[in-house]
Amino acid sequence: MVNRREWLMGTACLPALRGAAPGPRNVVIASANGLRACTRAMEILQAGGDTLDAVIAGVNINEEDPEDTTVGYGGLPNEEGVVELDASVMHGPTRRCGAVAALRNIKTPSKVARLVMERTDHVMLVGEGALRFAKAHGFKEEDLLTEKARLAWLVWKESLRDRQGHSNWSDGLDAPLKPGAWLRRKFPGVDEATLAWAWEVATNPPTGTINCLALNARGEMSGVTSTSGLAWKIPGRVGDSPLPGAGLWVDQDVGAAGSTGRGEENIRVAGAHTIVENMRRGMSPKEACLDALERVARNFQHDRSRLARFDLVFYALRKDGEYAAASLWNGTIREGKLVPRRFAVNDGAGSRLEPCAFLLERKA
Ligand code: ASP
Repeated sequence: MVNRREWLMGTACLPALRGAAPGPRNVVIASANGLRACTRAMEILQAGGDTLDAVIAGVNINEEDPEDTTVGYGGLPNEEGVVELDASVMHGPTRRCGAVAALRNIKTPSKVARLVMERTDHVMLVGEGALRFAKAHGFKEEDLLTEKARLAWLVWKESLRDRQGHSNWSDGLDAPLKPGAWLRRKFPGVDEATLAWAWEVATNPPTGTINCLALNARGEMSGVTSTSGLAWKIPGRVGDSPLPGAGLWVDQDVGAAGSTGRGEENIRVAGAHTIVENMRRGMSPKEACLDALERVARNFQHDRSRLARFDLVFYALRKDGEYAAASLWNGTIREGKLVPRRFAVNDGAGSRLEPCAFLLERKA
């Protein structure tokens, strides 16, 4: 029997929240680049810490890591070679959120997003205003463009050609003819593996972001999403990651959700909010994510050739500890092989990768 309070709270359809399932427990989930983040966050949860402290500390590892070229320091820049970061945070127990977008020169946008939540009467600051706010709180400006990311950006610039194969950023028409592939000639000091990577990201701009969601044994939940956004984006472009309801949503009564992948498509279905509302109406985390992906496919009339041009992953953690992730496609094709999509989980027994559910299947 549904009681009046459950009905009003919108939790009437959640059997797990009505006592059928085991109570809350420490669980952290994240995008596949979040194994270390899950471990760090779990340590904080196990020490009795706050869920938002936990997820932000986890994500800071990626934000500060120059080798993660999709988040924070070392992220791939915009079309002008400038790194612009987006992040959002949500704290379930207080039902508050904060965000920054197009923030330059600060390594840890998730920390600034938290300060927006705690030290302003606003929810989101962008661009120059976000930077000034961060500096007012003692953050130091740093150049976020690593040599590796600058190389990839230059390769991208020089790869753009007109119909005759000409680029203002490449050899001049009057340049002496030299043998060998242009990429190797242009970057003689760079090793083969780094050049191959730079060519790949230049010609096939990658997506990547970190989303991290946590539940503790007291049933409290929080989440964070942090990204450098799409590589080579137009300056000022803001994706889904900093938008509450798209890249992140936490409802303390129900659960949390987040996203990585092509933000424009997520924004058009308000993915994270849709997923949490789906769970409120009784869907499992997996069903809730797949339903949101189905809405994305619907926006393209289920045209597989257009859908094949991007991917999107949703992550969901329900208040009873059940979790899932689902991607639009079953995986990516690399060197002719299908690499399945996975996501990171830690429920107290170490961090591991688990397979994502998926909506559409492609073959190697
Ligand atoms: N969702 C991010 C954005 O659109 C990018 C990503 O996840 O790769 O900015």
